[in-house]
Amino acid sequence: MSYFSNLIELFRRFPGIGPKQAERFAYFLLSTDESFVKNLVRELESLKESSAMCESCFRYFAKNGGTSKVCPICSNDSRDVGKLLIVSRDVDMENIERTKIYDGLYFVLGGVVPILEKEPEKKIRIRELIKLVESRNKDMKEIILATNATSEGEHTADFVTNQIEPITKKSNIKISMLGRGLSTGTELEYSDSDTIVNALKNRG
Ligand SMILES: [Zn+2]
Repeated sequence: MSYFSNLIELFRRFPGIGPKQAERFAYFLLSTDESFVKNLVRELESLKESSAMCESCFRYFAKNGGTSKVCPICSNDSRDVGKLLIVSRDVDMENIERTKIYDGLYFVLGGVVPILEKEPEKKIRIRELIKLVESRNKDMKEIILATNATSEGEHTADFVTNQIEPITKKSNIKISMLGRGLSTGTELEYSDSDTIVNALKNRG
């Protein structure tokens, strides 16, 4: 055990980081210049304080010194309230936003529902989503499911559809899928803008 094994253990808790990578990170920090480390520490210390979770779409956003509980996208009047695009994670949303062709609102589920999951409602923000759809059912015209085109992503989309269908059917809200424009196995996080633009155009 090296004397910086605590640090390695912390890095191992990051998503997708194995022991070897965690060790590389630690050695990198040891060998890099001090200003980088100080900068990193400063950013880490202010991260929680300088950001908030949006009360409407549940994405994280930079507060920029403000006290708003709703993110800039949700509070932007020029966004189309008739459209709600549902993603698993913040990174997926950021990637779609980067294409600049989607002008509606978002909802971040905060995860996926694994196949055979016994308590799916504990894996994603389904209750919050139902509440949102219920409260906006007069404005909403379309809900776009933009989960990954993987088996887990599709399973998540099926679960969400089943849960919101009682409201959408009653309120005449269309449910469409982004997945049809994506090839199997595609993860939004790693998709380029052209792929996402096509998937958005070809949704159905
Ligand atoms: Zn928001």
